Amino acid sequence: MKRECILVTGANGQIGSVLTGYLRGIYGDDQVIATDIREPETAAGRFEKLDVTDAASLAQIVSKNKVTQVYHLAAILSARGEQEPMKTWQVNMGTYFNVLEAARERGVEKVFYPSSIAVFGAHISNEPGQWAYLEPATVYGISKAAGENWSDYYFKRYGLDIRSLRYPGIIGHQSMPGGGTTDYAVDIYHKAVKGEAFECFLNPDTTLPMIYISDAMDATIRLMEAAREDITVRTSYNLAGMSFSPAEITASIQKFIPDFTITYNPDFRQKIADSWPSHIDDSIARKDWSWRPSYTLDKMTEEMIRELRKKDL
Ligand code: NAD
Repeated sequence: MKRECILVTGANGQIGSVLTGYLRGIYGDDQVIATDIREPETAAGRFEKLDVTDAASLAQIVSKNKVTQVYHLAAILSARGEQEPMKTWQVNMGTYFNVLEAARERGVEKVFYPSSIAVFGAHISNEPGQWAYLEPATVYGISKAAGENWSDYYFKRYGLDIRSLRYPGIIGHQSMPGGGTTDYAVDIYHKAVKGEAFECFLNPDTTLPMIYISDAMDATIRLMEAAREDITVRTSYNLAGMSFSPAEITASIQKFIPDFTITYNPDFRQKIADSWPSHIDDSIARKDWSWRPSYTLDKMTEEMIRELRKKDL
């Protein structure tokens, strides 16, 4: 295998802390450099502290290590972003421009850019196709839609091999979410396993697209390892795992923990959820790089409960 040096930004977050392990398993511990603005909670493998708004430090790490691939995960997420719109725009766009320019100028071959279902808006169908009109309702969604277009631009203009997924809400047992609108679907399992009741910030019938972390990792690696000529979407691929509402995830948990209870107290995140589609048409990802999710809601619930029970929550 060709020698790769992979840089992950935002590596201490919900996705990065899992993805970094997957990448180390594929490419070897020494080939993957985890970076984040904050120190990791537990030391595991190569780590460098990096604020990606600092273009010079990023460029230096890329050159010093002859980085060949960047997974740019650092961002401020949807719900947190609404608290500080200007800062969110500056961080999400500023960091991405720094990555794009460092990649273009310093020989990086591939970039992974995570987009989101937040790019869609309220005026589309409930199952938007790949080329649906984008009218995002949050500063986070606006920044992701802009990032998608810049990805396409850098590919067409400079030939930079950027690949991207519109992740649905990601659910996993390994890490906690960082301020998104789908966070409830992770928190609910923690409460259920602790034997506590859960108060949900969304209405019972708010159906949203979600994906189990193992499927999200599989999709990410599959996309990044696909042949260059098979990638027909250079903005960002629609990606679907499963769709469910708070009432449906509750019913799934109750199959394993019958006395689990939920109450509903919607807050500002209900409005964000209302602007998102309930399902996603990912047929182009399925066709281009053979994407298939393997988790259903009940299969995920069973695994989440089993894995969380092993932890000292
Ligand atoms: P997270 O909030 O859990 O982690 C983001 C990480 O970025 C944090 O560790 C944070 O410390 C770091 N960070 C923030 N600003 C930084 C900066 N200036 N420099 C360096 N690091 C910085 O987020 P996540 O859930 O792991 O998401 C990762 C990526 O995937 C994000 O781009 C997010 O938009 C996207 N995404 C996530 C989901 C999801 O459900 N988790 C869904 C769609 C898209």
